[in-house]
Amino acid sequence: MLICDTHAHYDDEAFDQDRELLLGSELKAGGVEFVVNMGASMEGARASAAYARRYPKHGPENGAGTCVVMYAGCGIHPDDTGVFEGKETTSGLRYAHPDDVMQELRNLCGQEGVVCVGEIGLDYHWMVETKEVQQKWFREQMRLAYELQLPINVHSRDAAQDTFDLIRENYDAGRFTGGVIHCYSGSLELAREYVKMGYLIGVGGVVTFKNAKTLKKVVQEIPPEFLVTETDCPYLAPEPHRGKRNDSRNIRYVIEAIAALKEMDTDTCAQVLQENALSVYRI
Ligand SMILES: [Zn+2]
Repeated sequence: MLICDTHAHYDDEAFDQDRELLLGSELKAGGVEFVVNMGASMEGARASAAYARRYPKHGPENGAGTCVVMYAGCGIHPDDTGVFEGKETTSGLRYAHPDDVMQELRNLCGQEGVVCVGEIGLDYHWMVETKEVQQKWFREQMRLAYELQLPINVHSRDAAQDTFDLIRENYDAGRFTGGVIHCYSGSLELAREYVKMGYLIGVGGVVTFKNAKTLKKVVQEIPPEFLVTETDCPYLAPEPHRGKRNDSRNIRYVIEAIAALKEMDTDTCAQVLQENALSVYRI
């Protein structure tokens, strides 16, 4: 089965003990073709770009084809948008001006193997930053994506309508660059609107949960060409590993669930899902 992960966080401390082993051999041995590591903070964006440098498709590390291929997303998660407002990050980074944050993101996004601006969006669950701050920097990072002609990877929690409205505004302004609505949790109606614009729907472990009725409906109704697989690891492990640390190998359960919902052959489904991931990130 072809496995690809369009949204992962291997820079998370949950992988501190065995990251080298996972990226260096175990993921590949488990059938994972490639992973897009998503930056959420500036530290995460730097780490993601570094993985893409270390594990490129044709790099020396991959000479024997034993390590997974890594790509990166660089962006600032809504919870971390305070960095644009002069707040110090957890590791002590502080920028004098928001342009300095943007410039570093621009530089990172220009590096080999960085394939999208992400993860960016809105999170009204934790409300670490005000709606106004989150919205401002979501808009600005979508502008950056347009400037660099990169797709976006979007985080949205308890903010489905506002996320949609801002993406629509960006689209209507002629700044569509494609992308993925990651870990989709909205309605079927909104999913259809995203697909009409040309965005893809990111599906992860949640699709295997019994109570995920709306997401299952979305997967059933949206054409397979508009779906991509992801983990959001270390979070959101699918059944039968729910609650444990997640990694990209578990995407096989996600593919099986999608194939069953769409009444497709599993390998054919995996093939389509991988083609979607390659094309949205222009890999
Ligand atoms: Zn994430």
